[in-house]
Amino acid sequence: MARARNRPALVAHGGAGSAGPGAERAERRRAMMAAMRLGAGILRANGSALEAVVATVAALEDHPLFNAGYGSLLNSEGNVEMDASVMFAEPVADPAALIPASRGKRSAHTDHSSGSDYSISAGAVAAISRVRNPIVLARAVMEHSPHIMMAGAGAESFARKVGIRLVRPEEMVTERARQRWRAQKQQSGMLAAQRAARAAMGHGTVGAVAVDDRGALAAATSTGGVPGKLFGRVGDSALIGAGTFAHAFGAASATGQGEAIILTALCREAVLALADGSPRSVAGEAIREMIDATGAEAGIILIDGRGRIGYAHNTVSMQVARYDWAGGLRHLWLAPIAPGRRP
Ligand code: ASP
Repeated sequence: MARARNRPALVAHGGAGSAGPGAERAERRRAMMAAMRLGAGILRANGSALEAVVATVAALEDHPLFNAGYGSLLNSEGNVEMDASVMFAEPVADPAALIPASRGKRSAHTDHSSGSDYSISAGAVAAISRVRNPIVLARAVMEHSPHIMMAGAGAESFARKVGIRLVRPEEMVTERARQRWRAQKQQSGMLAAQRAARAAMGHGTVGAVAVDDRGALAAATSTGGVPGKLFGRVGDSALIGAGTFAHAFGAASATGQGEAIILTALCREAVLALADGSPRSVAGEAIREMIDATGAEAGIILIDGRGRIGYAHNTVSMQVARYDWAGGLRHLWLAPIAPGRRP
């Protein structure tokens, strides 16, 4: 029997944190909508959720105002080190048949509410400096390597083997990122530096989640990391379960203080909670639990297999764009809330 067609939907975020410079808002909105049009176009043409999230995130990585790909923040040494990850949950006739050959690279899952079987796969890269689109490399790790996560020089060498062009690390550094790094270095004292880092937070880690008309779900996240991060630090955006997760129930991408997102396995917890709740209520609850456990600041976007959308944040601001059959394409600066307030 033919599967019922699902209603495709896509949500993207451009980071959660401070409100960011007002002068950049119009351009960030324009770039986000252009990226969404690419992703939504893929879904409308019956393309896959995986293609849609990778295309959306790659377009944002190319834009210098987002903290991902070209435009990434610099680490304590003044260099770009980027993290990205992608996860895909795809309906299949018999997922168990995939398992013996995949040696742990794929997992199988039955969604008992719909009776559908899913094959689940993921790819991630950490602390890379020489690839223009980290999300494309994360996808290549998922599809063409025996592994799920690769880091640093080894990941870059793998990129070359699969035909992804390497660039000089300096080519990833924008003048804007360099100026911010200098300003932060000049702040005297720990507290002032932390304040500067906090003010700079939320300027554009990017992520997207989607469901396509076959019911496949995908999530992708990409970042240059948190301001002031140490050389070698890897955050949640590289970690499946923390910054990115997709499963038969839904898909999630997070942004904010990566250490807290890792400690609470934010995206995995949220997606599994979709078994008993709507994306909207689950997103709010996930952020509340993260606050209770860590006191940190973060945001999450969430989608379920029915194309229902949810998002929540406890930062001052969060940039989100959404596409679904009911509302079409929309952009939102999520209502500023007082720091520390619960969503
Ligand atoms: N979560 C990212 C990290 O910790 C940063 C962000 O989303 O702003 O690397």
